[in-house]
Amino acid sequence: MKAAILEETGRIEVRDVEDLRPARDEVLIRTACAGVCGSDLHAFRGRHPFRKPPVILGHELAGTVVEVGHDVGDVRLNDRVTMMPLVSCGRCRLCRMGRENICLDKRVPGVGGWLGSFAEFALAKSSVTFRLGEATAFELGVLAEPLAVGVHAVTRQARLEAGSRVLVLGGGTIGILTALAARAAGAGDIVITDLFEFNLALTQTLCGAATVHVGREGWEADLARAYPEKFDVTFLCSGAPATVGQAVRLTRRAGRIVVTGLFLEPVPMDLTAVTLGELEVVGSQIYDHRDFRTAVDWIDSGRFDFRKLVTHTFPLARAQDALTLLADRTEDAVKILLQM
Ligand SMILES: [Zn+2]
Ligand SMILES: [Zn+2]
Repeated sequence: MKAAILEETGRIEVRDVEDLRPARDEVLIRTACAGVCGSDLHAFRGRHPFRKPPVILGHELAGTVVEVGHDVGDVRLNDRVTMMPLVSCGRCRLCRMGRENICLDKRVPGVGGWLGSFAEFALAKSSVTFRLGEATAFELGVLAEPLAVGVHAVTRQARLEAGSRVLVLGGGTIGILTALAARAAGAGDIVITDLFEFNLALTQTLCGAATVHVGREGWEADLARAYPEKFDVTFLCSGAPATVGQAVRLTRRAGRIVVTGLFLEPVPMDLTAVTLGELEVVGSQIYDHRDFRTAVDWIDSGRFDFRKLVTHTFPLARAQDALTLLADRTEDAVKILLQM
């Protein structure tokens, strides 16, 4: 099969690799499309903590089951599916606590022999394979993974209550989908910040969020004036160091700050403000089965116009161009898909 391999930082080559055969508890999926994610970009730039070249990137996919292992009962040939790119050990203390997303021994694509999804085929344990609704296009099914990140942050880590005032700092794919998840969870006002007008306008269209362009002088003071009671919950979705101070200043006392973005360097935080205001600061790491189920259900239900998130589609052969576009942002881009 053909696969896009990150040979070294910044250079992807598409070439033949060995065909895959499913183990007893696995299915073989013919990939229809794969999503390019911020973490793929980190790896492309050589800044990912554990995905190092040579590696087949990608962990978001949708496609058709073309072979099933002997012990697979719940997934059938020709099922149209998406995959949760996480296999937890099921034995460690965290798994036993129901926290499979932060399992001490979890397996993810691109590490330890599980190949990434930038390839014509992919293997998945049937336990992490989710059937798509009949009317759900592959291009939408592939969005279940990033949406599940937002679902987890909003429903589990933020424990969002109906009517909450929500601030989303950073309007990339995860920020936008977090805003959508907040809307679906019954948030009141939602405000999203970003540097890209396109992303802001898109979020406004999709879920009625108010938008703030952070390139504008004085935006934080204006926002603080517009919301004198501040925000109940703030999501850090970009990994930009400046957003940490913004979150502390714009979140109300006894409010919650949820950290979803990957900060590549340690960032100082005003802990005096955390103490005086009894702020809760909580991390949010990917998702579990329940979040993924919710994400697939929302996509199947057609509740939001998810299609608008997909700004570009490239053939697998042009994976290098897809990553380069996301890295350089020569055009407005939100979700970029590879089509096989
Ligand atoms: Zn992703
Ligand atoms: Zn575990």
